[in-house]
Amino acid sequence: MKLAKYSFGTGDRFGLQGSAQLAVVRQAKEKGIDLAIVWNKSHREHIIVGTSPEDVRREADEAVKAAGWQGSYHVDADHIGLANVDLFLPHSDFFTLDVADYIGQPAALQDIEAFVDTYSNYTGRLEIAGLSGPLFVTAEQVRAIAEKYLFAVQQAARIYQYLASKKTSGTFITEVSLDETTEPQSPLELFFILAAIAENGIPAQTIAPKFTGRFNKGVEYQGNVEQFNLEFDQDICVIKEAIRRFGLPEDLKLSVHSGSDKFAIYPGIRAAVTKHNSGVHVKTAGTTWLEELIGLAESGDEGLALVKKIYEKAYGRFDELCGPYASVIDIDQDNLDSPEEVNNWDGKRLAQALRHDQKNPLYNSNIRQLLHVAYKVAAEYGDVYLDLVRKNREVIAHHVSTNLYDRHIKPLFL
Ligand SMILES: [Zn+2]
Repeated sequence: MKLAKYSFGTGDRFGLQGSAQLAVVRQAKEKGIDLAIVWNKSHREHIIVGTSPEDVRREADEAVKAAGWQGSYHVDADHIGLANVDLFLPHSDFFTLDVADYIGQPAALQDIEAFVDTYSNYTGRLEIAGLSGPLFVTAEQVRAIAEKYLFAVQQAARIYQYLASKKTSGTFITEVSLDETTEPQSPLELFFILAAIAENGIPAQTIAPKFTGRFNKGVEYQGNVEQFNLEFDQDICVIKEAIRRFGLPEDLKLSVHSGSDKFAIYPGIRAAVTKHNSGVHVKTAGTTWLEELIGLAESGDEGLALVKKIYEKAYGRFDELCGPYASVIDIDQDNLDSPEEVNNWDGKRLAQALRHDQKNPLYNSNIRQLLHVAYKVAAEYGDVYLDLVRKNREVIAHHVSTNLYDRHIKPLFL
């Protein structure tokens, strides 16, 4: 199973927006761009919302059937490991093997020695096509990379082998993710990580490194955009070189776990992908749920009242909700409006605080991030929340589609 050159990963906390999400890929298709849509949901998200991998499969299949969609689509077991992969086995055809937690753990000494030995011929001057100049590699660097990453890659291989033992070969796509860590991987590190991936027999079609900068949930990129652009461009070159040298799948490409809404880096991604005629997978995940809140806030008294209640509860449960996401949110609590203030707002005012429009002075990234991680509260409302979303299906679907198409698909692919 081959992933399309351009693919788009989208999340849907409550599983009601599959059709609205698929609509944007159809729209892109009408403009001549073939995009595969990938519905992704992590184990953590399933636990918090109370859904199961089967629900995502059903949502995807139903949306595709309803639309008569002929293009490719996949269901991504996002950020899985050996502890939870079984739950996803029958329902997913895309597996994101998350081994970031194993970075820095030591591989067996003999494995490190063997790796250093094998790649000793890469020391000195290393030419990588597309880079402005050669890299210079020392044996110490190769060893340091092996010490830091080899064990993680070996863990990815264990998950992959388990998958391969359970699923027919050629029926699923493999991604290796190293993004949920604090330190970015340099292009040189990526090169040797890919060597290890090839050596360990993982037919990765996508690789998600940790890029430079912060990828906070649902808000703009925080970091040096120029440095990101350079690194992203170099990573593509490194991948192409690694495909040639190590025999990795020809269509191996970068996967950007964007945390959504990284508008500042979209032009650089697009430029590099175009320049190198490369593919890319971009996961944008969770802001669909915020579009539901925006739609509800604007839908009338009932919807607005519920959004305000969710905010009030989230405000009071700050530590509990933000804890699991501490490394991917930056909320300035002093600039969170109190629930009392928010209760005085009308729907339009609340939607303006929430909608990611950086030109709007009423936009508040703190409120947005807090609500982004507050889907647990909405889940606790159960059918009260879901019924209101269903009741306002049309207006919400419009928000979901417009947001995805105008602000993500267009700048990235069109
Ligand atoms: Zn990720």
